[in-house]
Amino acid sequence: MVRETKFYDLLEVPPNASESELKKAYRKKALRLHPDKGGDPELFKEVTHAYEILSDADKRSIYDARGEAGLSEQGGMGGMDPQDLFSQLFGGGGFGGGGGFFGGGGGGSRNQGPRKTKDLVHRVHVTLEDLYKGKTTKLALTRNVICSKCKGKGGKEGAVRTCHSCSGRGIKVTLRQMGPMIQQIQSACDDCNGLGEVINVKDRCTGCKGKKVMPEKKFLEVHIDKGMKGGQTVQFRGESDQSPTAEPGDVVIVIEEKPHDRFKRQENDLIIEVEIDLLSALAGGQFAIKHLDDRVLMVKLEPGEVIKNGDLKVIHGQGMPSQRHHEPGDLYVKLDVKFPDSIDHDAIPLLEQALPPRNPVSTFDKHTLIEEVHLDDTDARARGNVRGDDAMDEDGDEPRVQCANQ
Ligand SMILES: [Zn+2]
Ligand SMILES: [Zn+2]
Repeated sequence: MVRETKFYDLLEVPPNASESELKKAYRKKALRLHPDKGGDPELFKEVTHAYEILSDADKRSIYDARGEAGLSEQGGMGGMDPQDLFSQLFGGGGFGGGGGFFGGGGGGSRNQGPRKTKDLVHRVHVTLEDLYKGKTTKLALTRNVICSKCKGKGGKEGAVRTCHSCSGRGIKVTLRQMGPMIQQIQSACDDCNGLGEVINVKDRCTGCKGKKVMPEKKFLEVHIDKGMKGGQTVQFRGESDQSPTAEPGDVVIVIEEKPHDRFKRQENDLIIEVEIDLLSALAGGQFAIKHLDDRVLMVKLEPGEVIKNGDLKVIHGQGMPSQRHHEPGDLYVKLDVKFPDSIDHDAIPLLEQALPPRNPVSTFDKHTLIEEVHLDDTDARARGNVRGDDAMDEDGDEPRVQCANQ
């Protein structure tokens, strides 16, 4: 049972909603409530905050257990700018450009607040080792910065003129009647390429050729915290493209976890498969697991306890660190017992002494015809056949020979 449902109510979902249901619900509400669409900014903020909490598994469990009060005890619920979360989810900053659909030609206050350039999204592939230990990597990226030569003017003082065709708005608007609605179609002005102004070729800045911005290489230090998971992001506020007419957007680094050849990760737990020999499985022994930080875990199998093929054991506290407090998860060990291919005849009496007796053979009526047969090895093709269905021909005697697609 959850303690409070306020956040769920804001998103109009039941408290057992799945992650994707939450996302869908948020998307729907956010699109309707977005201030750029004339929505109530306060409500938009509240809905976004609710989604921010519920979409984070850790925060959601705190909220479910202890309500909003529990979250503030945790400290740092400052959270992100709702606009940021919104653009992170749906890309881009707000609803710039292109054919809006408004009832009754109201027009209204689109693009309120500072416009932002597009977020630059980069994916970094991180090894499980680095996510275990934490790491700082340097990332080089190219972004536009204001041209230093013309200070973002694009040309000499006075060379820049407002475009007459669009009165400097950079867009042309055409209205189209559609039944009771008027559709407002916006397109970029052809005369100024949507810039709203024109510069004579000869007056253009020689540095940026009138573009006002220049590409620049920049190095960012990305701190990969211990315990981060694939899909998480690291944000650099205002490090995206600069523009003379908009605030720079953010650089968003998306962490992608590289698959590991030995360990599998499940949240903060790790899973490894280890092969052990039959003697160790039956009579005790030990094996070593090299951990992600190069430590070696020496695991002892107690004599007398029998390990069965496929047994799943756990080593507590040797999983991944949790991101916030670096509390370790667990390491699950799946044991595969490797059987020997043959056994020395002389050793068989010793096995008979050590192991439980053979299962007795069922008894049959003395009139039953009993035939002694021999078990032969099968070849790969026959094994493939038997595993598939319809292994037997309709006539019934011989396995049907098929082309095994292996
Ligand atoms: Zn124009
Ligand atoms: Zn310039």
